[in-house]
Amino acid sequence: MTLTQTEGLVIKNYSGFYYVQDKTGYIYECKVRGKVKEKLLSGDRVLFTPLENGKGILEKVLRRENQLYRPRVANVTRVLIVMAYDQPKPDLGLLDRLIFLALFNKITPCIILNKCDLAVDETANRILSYYPASFEVIRTSARQNIGMDKLSAAITGEIGVLAGPSGTGKSSMLKLLTGSEARTGEVSAKIGRGKHTTRHVELYPLPHGGWLVDTPGFSVLDLPSLRREEMVQYFPDFSEYADDCKFGNCLHYRETECGVKTAVDEQKILLSRYQNYITMLKEIIEKEKCY
Ligand code: GDP
Ligand code: ZN
Repeated sequence: MTLTQTEGLVIKNYSGFYYVQDKTGYIYECKVRGKVKEKLLSGDRVLFTPLENGKGILEKVLRRENQLYRPRVANVTRVLIVMAYDQPKPDLGLLDRLIFLALFNKITPCIILNKCDLAVDETANRILSYYPASFEVIRTSARQNIGMDKLSAAITGEIGVLAGPSGTGKSSMLKLLTGSEARTGEVSAKIGRGKHTTRHVELYPLPHGGWLVDTPGFSVLDLPSLRREEMVQYFPDFSEYADDCKFGNCLHYRETECGVKTAVDEQKILLSRYQNYITMLKEIIEKEKCY
């Protein structure tokens, strides 16, 4: 009998087994074939050989689109950046950094403005008036079940991860969307030799297809290594104005005759967004000095 390999998705790793779901939705408990050297992550697409009784042998890891480090998960396609109308007030610096990190990792950001049952704060108003032109923005109340259908539609068929400050409603959303409890980022459990281990991430299934990572993501906000000129390509709302810059390699920082700075003066680009761009640009320039 020849056994045929099939494609599947790693949804969790537990006690030395990888749980792999095939296209029909069936989940196999797989052991890894010895020659597979890569460290497997939840979210990895793999080839495996199904055996009897729901067992399987994991043969090969397919190419990853991206990989997050905390939590460790592969192939995330959507990040839900959760900010609250109030309690806590939205943090635009963090919002812009998370959008940048998402785009850099080839992940589509979706801004969730939660707690819309509370009075709208001035900062929340700025999000609502500026960001929808360039990004998907969804108003929700996890408490009053408002906007949750839109949010659900935005992640159907995707591998999504929640991100954002604590207290904004991420755990409440995970519970509403998947019916399961959120897990804390990392549990450093002491094992035999006193080593610390990182808990493995699990993908929770969404009712209409797709997955949500069980742990909020992007807990590390360090900027990646990139060149200063590359920074602006992750600010899609700046691009049409950058065409008016005098210098082709304009960083929109100290240069004169800069279309982006003019757009900021004319309030076409949100001032805080430009300032957050400059803050990150300076960090990148500082990092370049360390190479
Ligand atoms: P997390 O820290 O981001 O995971 O946030 P939680 O889900 O733990 O929520 C923090 C607090 O905000 C809890 O007391 C929730 O009950 C509350 N909360 C969550 N969603 C809403 C909402 O839509 N409206 C209001 N008023 N409170 C909410
Ligand atoms: Zn410029």
